[in-house]
Amino acid sequence: MRDKILDYFELLKRNDLLGSSYLFIGDGYPVVTDIFKLINCKDHPRFCGACWDCGRIAEGKHPDVFLIEPDPSTIKIERIREAQYFLSLKSFRLKKKVVFVKGAESFSEPAANAFLKTLEEPPKNTFIAVCSRTVDGLLPTIISRCRKIFLPFNEKVDAVEPGVLYDFLEGKIHKFGDRRKLNAFLWTLIAALRDHIVAGTNSHGAGSGEWPSGDSQQANNRLLNNGEYEIIFTRYSAEKAQELLTEAMRVYGIADTVNENLALNLIRLKL
Ligand SMILES: [Zn+2]
Repeated sequence: MRDKILDYFELLKRNDLLGSSYLFIGDGYPVVTDIFKLINCKDHPRFCGACWDCGRIAEGKHPDVFLIEPDPSTIKIERIREAQYFLSLKSFRLKKKVVFVKGAESFSEPAANAFLKTLEEPPKNTFIAVCSRTVDGLLPTIISRCRKIFLPFNEKVDAVEPGVLYDFLEGKIHKFGDRRKLNAFLWTLIAALRDHIVAGTNSHGAGSGEWPSGDSQQANNRLLNNGEYEIIFTRYSAEKAQELLTEAMRVYGIADTVNENLALNLIRLKL
């Protein structure tokens, strides 16, 4: 998954198609840092990991990378103003100056509104990476201004058996009992829905939700490698799957703070 994201950005870099603003959803600070190296490393088509720029970016100490993060629990407008000043200056070394927003779900309202102006008119040669664990709590205007990249979650989770997912979708009650198992279930649901949407979007009958068969490109894009998940989702349209995915990601983001029944019922409401 991480490699696929880097492949994608390498392709954008090679064809000069990089956008200025991206929203990374999930747990992905290491991969985002690698993307900064990839965009700017001069010694390698991807990144070398050994040059001065790669080294400083990895340490979080590059003068052309500006970090915005919650302080202590919200992102304040003062920090956005500092970022805007940083972007108005000439770059020291990098082709693209980088603004790295961690914990974007913690923007204060004035900070979010000020930041929106930067997203609307980013200075030339700017790369803005907005990272958020979930899309919940982000201003819709911020979401719509960024290209969206879905990242894998850090927590090591294994996919649940297809039968468990199938029973859930059929409305059968399943007790997970512990948070790890619940998270594994939610992750599997998210991954399966994402695979379904990617397949539906890329197939000729866009939106039909039908899996094209025998296409290795499609298989490469998949998070789950178990063919049985195809059967489960064939009856969902792309729109319905998108709606379910949004809710499943929202619930995944709050799974630590709600009980199992509530988490599952929130998703059931969207079935
Ligand atoms: Zn390098």
